[in-house]
Amino acid sequence: MIINRTGKIIDDLYMVGHPAMPIYLLDGEKPAIFDAGLAFLGNIYTDGIREVIGNRDLHYCFLSHSHFDHCGAVSVLKKNFPGLKVAASARAKNIFGRPNAIKLMRSLTQAAEPLAESIEIEMTEFEKFEPFEVDITLKDGELFGLSRDLTIQVLETPGHTRDSLSYFIAQKKLLFCSEAAGIPDPSGYVVSEALVDYDQYYESMRRLSEVEYEILCLGHRQALTGLDAKNYFRKSMTDCRHFLNRVESALEDYKGDVQKTILRIKALEYDPIKGPKQIEPAYLLNLEAKIMAIKKRQERGLQNVELAN
Ligand SMILES: [Zn+2]
Repeated sequence: MIINRTGKIIDDLYMVGHPAMPIYLLDGEKPAIFDAGLAFLGNIYTDGIREVIGNRDLHYCFLSHSHFDHCGAVSVLKKNFPGLKVAASARAKNIFGRPNAIKLMRSLTQAAEPLAESIEIEMTEFEKFEPFEVDITLKDGELFGLSRDLTIQVLETPGHTRDSLSYFIAQKKLLFCSEAAGIPDPSGYVVSEALVDYDQYYESMRRLSEVEYEILCLGHRQALTGLDAKNYFRKSMTDCRHFLNRVESALEDYKGDVQKTILRIKALEYDPIKGPKQIEPAYLLNLEAKIMAIKKRQERGLQNVELAN
C-alpha cells in the first residue's frame, strides 16, 4: 500500500505536517522524528507532533542528509521542543557549520516561497532557515538505543549526497531511506536522485534492498507497506538505470553539452508532472548535479553495462 496522507501509518508511526512535505514521527517511550522538512512548515510540524504526543517531550530528530527541505525546520522545532537532540552524520554536521551551506539553504528556502503560498501557508508563518547544532553524530553500523525496546541501526547510504544516512529499526521492520533510493513521481516512475555519485547511489540501493524491512519511509510524501514496499528497490534500481541511459544518450547527441541535456531531461521527466512537485530551482540544481555525475562517470570510461547484474 502507498500511504501519502498525513496521520497514522501503522502502530506508533505517523506522517505529520503538511501533505506537500510531511515528516515522520515515531511515538513511544522517547518520541522521535525523522527529518525536519521545510523551514516555513515548522509550526505546522509542531502542531502535528503535539496532536500525537500531547505534552510529552520530543526527544530526537534523526536527519537523513544536509538538504534544506530535510533539515529546514530544525531550528523552529528546537525552539518549540526544548531538549530536542538532533542526530546526523559527521559530514552533515560539518556542512551545517559552513556559512556558505547555510546561505544556499536559505536561498533555496526563499525560492520555495511560491510553494508556501500555493499551500496557503500564512506569510507570517514564513520562517527563515536558521543554523542549528547537531548534538549526536552517527556512523555506519552504529546501533543507537532509542528506548528500552527499540534500537536504530545506522546505514551510510551515499550517492544522493555524501552525508546520507538511512535508519533501520529491526524490532519494527521499519526502514527510513529518505532520498537514498529516489522519489516516485505521481506516475510511479522513480526519479533518480544520484547527485554526487551514480555508482555509490546504485550500491546504496542494492544494500538497502537487502535489509529485512516491511515498512519503507521515503524522503518525500510516501510511506510504503506490503508489496509496494517489497518491490520498491527493484523498481528504483531499474528506473535509475533508465535515467542513466537517457542522460548518456542525450550527452552523446549533444556532444557533452550539459545545458542541452538538462533541457531534454527536464522536458521528459519534470515538465509533464501535474500536481505537487519539487520547486523548479531546486530541481534544476539537482538535475545539473546528476548529469555532471554521469558525465564524470562517462569520462572515466564507465558505461551502463557495468551495472548489469
Ligand atoms: Zn535531498
